[in-house]
Amino acid sequence: MYLYFSFISEVNFLALLHKFMDYYEVLGVAKTATPDEIKKAFHRLAHKYHPDKGGDEKKFKEINEAYQVLSDAKKRQQYDQFGQGFENMGSGGGGDFNWSWQNQNANFDFEDLGDVFENFFSFGGGARRTTKKDIKRGGDVQVDLEISLEETLKPINKKINLSKQSVCHRCHGNGAEPSTKIKECVLCRGQGQVQEVKRTILGSYTAFTVCPDCNGDGTKPEKICNVCRGEGRAKKNEEVEFTIPSGIDTNQIIELPGKGEAGKRGGSSGDLYVRVFIKKHPLFVRKADDIFVSQEISYSQAILGDEIEVPTLEKTSILLKVPQGTESGKVLRVAGKGIPHFGTNNRGNMFVELKIKTPKKITKHQKQLLEELQKEGL
Ligand SMILES: [Zn+2]
Ligand SMILES: [Zn+2]
Repeated sequence: MYLYFSFISEVNFLALLHKFMDYYEVLGVAKTATPDEIKKAFHRLAHKYHPDKGGDEKKFKEINEAYQVLSDAKKRQQYDQFGQGFENMGSGGGGDFNWSWQNQNANFDFEDLGDVFENFFSFGGGARRTTKKDIKRGGDVQVDLEISLEETLKPINKKINLSKQSVCHRCHGNGAEPSTKIKECVLCRGQGQVQEVKRTILGSYTAFTVCPDCNGDGTKPEKICNVCRGEGRAKKNEEVEFTIPSGIDTNQIIELPGKGEAGKRGGSSGDLYVRVFIKKHPLFVRKADDIFVSQEISYSQAILGDEIEVPTLEKTSILLKVPQGTESGKVLRVAGKGIPHFGTNNRGNMFVELKIKTPKKITKHQKQLLEELQKEGL
């Protein structure tokens, strides 16, 4: 969008140029402060920061500036409107933004205001131009992908099939029937933009907006493509291939720039975001880059010690030494058998919790032996 300011009203742009300095904060008063309170605060601070008395000159200037605005009822009212608007812009970031600025018969919306300020800050005065966001750009696409815990051990290649807007195979994206001409847009006479006069509290200005008929191309197909109706793109199944780094965790997002939906008539493609979910594992529980597994041992193994087989994520078992006199609930650490730290080969730990199994059924012989042990006090 190009903007040519014809007039900027006397609204206090200082507030803007000072990065929306909060005058109330500068004077240390509430937004509801009375003129008298403002005056007192100013005198106190001016005294404290006066450069002649060794005060901070920059601070002194700020205090003066704040007082000039807040001590003038009309300027204060304008500033209040202004400041509030910017708070909204900062936190809202679009979405259900529902703020409009009213003054006399002028009334303009968020986007207009954004353009005005963007221009003001970028160039400071006179004729200026900004690049409007690419309205032909294709949409971003987000998909969810579930993988197993084992698949986090190494980088893996994945292919997913997406139904999305893709470059039209018939016209290759220009929106015209093959071997037909592209002609100049009638609405904008080939300029790609149309002129509009906008009235705002800052005065009126002429805005050149992207031509709605040709989307800024300045040209249109003489005969639109039969497949995409001139859009240059059509819905189609497309296979997308990408690599998931090792050690990925649930809710991490893989960004694939340009793999989203194709743009209109040759516009740039959107991005693809793949959000990863790790399936629940039947044996292992993941916590960050460590995994936890529980392993049963027998009563005698706990007392005498033993070597036991423990499963790993690689599906091969390892031998683990159970020390003599192990209590139920003891946790053994196996270094390097956890999940790789994101994007690396260095792995976290595996923790094995040993649980002593109490048999529900025993043989006659086992019973005899245990009774002997009982006599021994075990
Ligand atoms: Zn087409
Ligand atoms: Zn046009």
